[in-house]
Amino acid sequence: MREISSESITAALAEMCIEANHYLTPDMEAALKKAGDQEVSPLGKQVLSQLRENLKIADEETIPICQDTGMAVVFVEMGQDVHITGSSLSDAINEGVRKGYTEGYLRKSVVSDPIERVNTKDNTPAVIHYDIVPGDKFKMTLAPKGFGSENMSRIFMLKPAEGIEGVKNAVLTAVGDAGPNACPPMVVGVGIGGTFEKAALLSKKALLREAGSHSDIPYVKDLEIELLDRINKSGIGPGGLGGRMTALAVNVLTYPTHIAGLPVAVNICCHVNRHSVREL
Ligand code: SF4
Repeated sequence: MREISSESITAALAEMCIEANHYLTPDMEAALKKAGDQEVSPLGKQVLSQLRENLKIADEETIPICQDTGMAVVFVEMGQDVHITGSSLSDAINEGVRKGYTEGYLRKSVVSDPIERVNTKDNTPAVIHYDIVPGDKFKMTLAPKGFGSENMSRIFMLKPAEGIEGVKNAVLTAVGDAGPNACPPMVVGVGIGGTFEKAALLSKKALLREAGSHSDIPYVKDLEIELLDRINKSGIGPGGLGGRMTALAVNVLTYPTHIAGLPVAVNICCHVNRHSVREL
């Protein structure tokens, strides 16, 4: 049994909060650059160039890449041969978020109750998803999620007979309804199958996949390519000001489902599709 201290988890997560909010991952930077090269609208090109300038300033002056530093979503892959010493794993993660957001001077956006809405003042609690895996590895992925784009996300419980065309319509409807509100160019995460909540989780996990990569499943890869092309013909464009580059990537994950259903979830992320990964 491998032991990992709760202190090391807290310290890693605090660093990850600061890192994810200050630096976009290389795949997202490359996707933004490519979008700038491919955009045809002068205004769209200008918006994309301003977004890249914003990233450069954030890097040079160590300021967050967006004022909405998000709600901390943490994916944990924990080997069944790992034992956490010290505090509970959830407490260690939340302490890391608290430390990262307070010591990193990141905006605190979390309220303790969805109706009473009192700010917790340290951006906790995080939303944590646990996967127990074989072996003794311990991996955390932090994805701070801004709510401009989160609010535009949708779930559709389709009938099986609606098939792949129904899936395409669902994704295009969600993106069309999002329009400028999701701070395009977007990354579109799609979860197909499972149950209501499994589809939603798949769509969020899909956002973590490298921009520009594709599914290994041939029909899913074709779906990703077709949807990206159709979204980029919608005319929404960078910043919603018109142009070709409405989305940088469409990432789709699938899972077995029930004979009577076809759940489709669309989790939209903006151009700051932030994440930071650590293995301890
Ligand atoms: S949707 Fe993204 S880019 Fe827009 S304000 Fe929120 S975090 Fe920032």
